[in-house]
Amino acid sequence: LIAVIDLRKRFKSLEVLKGIDLYIKQGSVTVLIGPSGSGKSTLLRCINQLETIQGGDIQFEGHSIARGPVDINKVRQRIGMVFQHFNLFPHLTVLENITLGPRKLRKMPTAEANALAEKLLKQVGLSDKRDAYPSQLSGGQKQRIAIARTLAMEPDVILFDEPTSALDPEMVGEVLEVMKDLAKDGMTMIIVTHEMGFAREVASKVVFMADGVIQESGTPEMLFEHPQSERLVNFLGKVL
Ligand code: ATP
Ligand code: MG
Repeated sequence: LIAVIDLRKRFKSLEVLKGIDLYIKQGSVTVLIGPSGSGKSTLLRCINQLETIQGGDIQFEGHSIARGPVDINKVRQRIGMVFQHFNLFPHLTVLENITLGPRKLRKMPTAEANALAEKLLKQVGLSDKRDAYPSQLSGGQKQRIAIARTLAMEPDVILFDEPTSALDPEMVGEVLEVMKDLAKDGMTMIIVTHEMGFAREVASKVVFMADGVIQESGTPEMLFEHPQSERLVNFLGKVL
């Protein structure tokens, strides 16, 4: 579905991604791990066209989305993103937050968008919050709404950048449950997370990044039980 080929990204003189190759299959769950500053967020932002790249290519269904003219809005419609800080619109209700994208970008009639939002609210277990404002929700609830909002665009793949890192520990589980359900339903996902238990349980592939390159990648069992590099052994020693 997505091919990242020899991707290079620099901020001024700082080389952040130094040749990343990554292939994402339809229906797979890829978990990105690695130390702070290794370029995980930058990689997601490049895939979602939030950053321009200096070398290599990113292909979506065989077509380059990083070079030449592309309709960024179309790409973002198909590649959803969920951030650490939910980024909900504070002046809109939960329902309005979810229906905004479908109405404005997908030109969906309001009644249809509302029906879709109700279905998604049910899916994330928050039907009773449809008329609440974000300020009236807990962190875990906000993140579940942010996921519902992303799902409302009916994307082909969702990128998650540390979706549970800003949450109090007791709210992490409810968000991971929603993500597990999505994985079970066959959603293609790329997830940056420090939740190693989740990675072990749900990931088709775990990718360990350090210093702007992929140091190791493979099944959760390969990386967690049989890490090859000293970097990864050290990293796992800190996070497990
Ligand atoms: P963390 O685990 O802390 O979130 P990360 O792996 O997501 O780290 P990135 O956010 O991708 O790391 O950052 C990689 C490097 O790029 C860091 O050294 C960071 O300071 C730098 N960087 C990121 N965004 C920018 C920017 N907009 N301008 C300049 N430098 C940046
Ligand atoms: Mg990051």
